[in-house]
Amino acid sequence: MATQTKDYYSTLGVKKSATAEDIRKAFRKLARKYHPDVNPNDKKAEEKFKEISEANDVLSDEKKRKVYDQLGFYSDNIDPAAAEAAARGGYGGGFSGGFPGGSPRSGSRGGQEVPFDFGGFDFSDFQSGGRSRGAAQEPSGGFGGSFRDIFGGIFSGGQKSRGPRPGTDLEYQVSVDFWSAVRGGVVRLEIERQETCPSCKGKSTTGGSMECPECHGSGQVTQMGGRMKFNIQCPRCNGTGKVQNVCATCDGEGVLMKREPLEFRIKPGTRDGQRIRLAGRGNAGTDGGASGDLYLIIKVGTHPVFTRVADDIHVTVPVTVAEAALGAKIEVPTIDTHDGGGRTQLKIPPGTQTGQKLRLREKGVPSASREGLRGDEIVEVKVVVPKVQDERSKEILRELAKLNPEDPRADLLAEV
Ligand SMILES: [Zn+2]
Ligand SMILES: [Zn+2]
Repeated sequence: MATQTKDYYSTLGVKKSATAEDIRKAFRKLARKYHPDVNPNDKKAEEKFKEISEANDVLSDEKKRKVYDQLGFYSDNIDPAAAEAAARGGYGGGFSGGFPGGSPRSGSRGGQEVPFDFGGFDFSDFQSGGRSRGAAQEPSGGFGGSFRDIFGGIFSGGQKSRGPRPGTDLEYQVSVDFWSAVRGGVVRLEIERQETCPSCKGKSTTGGSMECPECHGSGQVTQMGGRMKFNIQCPRCNGTGKVQNVCATCDGEGVLMKREPLEFRIKPGTRDGQRIRLAGRGNAGTDGGASGDLYLIIKVGTHPVFTRVADDIHVTVPVTVAEAALGAKIEVPTIDTHDGGGRTQLKIPPGTQTGQKLRLREKGVPSASREGLRGDEIVEVKVVVPKVQDERSKEILRELAKLNPEDPRADLLAEV
């Protein structure tokens, strides 16, 4: 079984004799280089940053560094006095026999820590892990099975069967087409969620007890820490060697995965990115714990003509040169009765320029949050220049230019 021993000094690139100042400088230099803000989406830099942070966390703390220097690893669960004793007791040398001062010593300080028994030190067999769960089996993240993580893993594993646990929240992205979002409607989708196990009613057990699968009834599990081996009280059975029978239906999880259809109504005016909370529709809790919530994130589809900006509708409408110059009453599309071809009259004022925006009040999307309110429709005018082919049209345009000799670029050129 491979046990990782981390060399925090080489991680930070400093000597063992480094001063606190050396360590501080080395960390700051590396942190600047590998900080996630400087390396967005770079997994390797993120890992590296975690490593140097972990090394710095230990080496920058005088007490932690002392424990690390003595044992070759660090854990919050280790009593500095015990580390000192272990170092004195011939650690790394010809140490044999029991741990000095072999009375069981509990390292548990708070409710979250695992009871610790230094009395069970065993240096005789580092290689075969026996019944222990090694670091390699742990679902470890970037910290690669550090001592603390190993405990964390076991501890949360054992916690499952202790009392009610609330279910987690679920989040689903839901695509809604343009019109359903504007007018409201019913959305149907299929979700996968954990529901309470019908066999054990979420209790994870079916009554009666059995041998603890973690420690095989011994009440103790073995942990590798650095180059040493510790016997700790089995957190799964609290050292009793027995656990309650595991429910076969859910494998002791208390919940089962289930796909189920979901139907819900969205309001008219539902916006893109809107988050809808369905209380209690998330994963079921265990042993009487409350269910989590279900969050639906709305993704609103686009439309070839209309563009939605919050409750406003934007549309670009082409007009002729004559309409723009002389003014006109034109028909523009609206979102009202789309299947019947919703349209309304819009007055184009004389002298309208291309890109100009005209507002149609309350022709936008109904507000989902404020009853009775509607957004506007914003019409952007796009002047279409005719492609003249015939001589007569060209003549008229030349004549028009002569009658209107003003230079449209005069201001622009004067500015430079
Ligand atoms: Zn056990
Ligand atoms: Zn069950």
